[in-house]
Amino acid sequence: MSDEGLSRRQYLTTVGGATVALSVAGCSGNGGGNSQTIVAGTAPGFPPFEMKEGGDLVGFDIDLLEAVVEQTDYSFEGWEEFEFDSLIPALTNDNIDVIAAGMTINDERDETIDFTDPYYSSDQAIVVRGDGSFSPGSLSDLSDRPIGAQKGTTGEGVVQDELIGDEITENQYNAYDSYVLAIQDLENGNVDAVMIDVPVANTFAANRPVEVAFTYETGERFGFGVRTDDDARQTALNEGLSAVQENGTYDELAQKWFGE
Ligand code: GLN
Repeated sequence: MSDEGLSRRQYLTTVGGATVALSVAGCSGNGGGNSQTIVAGTAPGFPPFEMKEGGDLVGFDIDLLEAVVEQTDYSFEGWEEFEFDSLIPALTNDNIDVIAAGMTINDERDETIDFTDPYYSSDQAIVVRGDGSFSPGSLSDLSDRPIGAQKGTTGEGVVQDELIGDEITENQYNAYDSYVLAIQDLENGNVDAVMIDVPVANTFAANRPVEVAFTYETGERFGFGVRTDDDARQTALNEGLSAVQENGTYDELAQKWFGE
């Protein structure tokens, strides 16, 4: 799409829904430029990217996306919360306009949605209880152990591709709606390890009785998810991301949430 922005017809198609169409028709005199909105979706329980603190949604993704949108002509309309594996359907069904959820850019997801430029890099970590009862050093040390991950994640992908059928049986894999539940079950002794993104593993290790046993290199990069036909938001968010990287906001937020 050109940088002239959305034509009114494209706008109506993009956001869909009779209520929005009426409100746009009702303010058709103002040129429409300010009527471009972004509703973001996330999946709390992935600290420090997104989590609930005293009922509030906070985290690096929350601050970063809001700062990025601030750099664009879009107005930010707020957050919707989902389980991680419901985010892509929510985006393609137009319930949200952007996914900000530590989501790894990969080929499988690229078939259904598009991504902005990457904004963070990660590998996978194998997290165990902090009591020293089990200290694996490689994937083969996970042999015959119950392992947990969050549904629909790249961590689950590593369990499926590298462990199930080789080191563990299908039944030894426990899939959770949230990594918070997976870590809870690890603490309770129902699984012996959790496969999870390194920065999130480090955050859990700093706050709960668990530790990182070893890391598994995947070279993942996180991007914000957008609809495949939404070139306008993709371009605007990429420009906003460059702007916050250049003006120091990105570094401030990394310092705030990762101490980097
Ligand atoms: N980065 C992982 C993925 O994209 C996990 C993301 C998450 O659990 N929020 O699958």
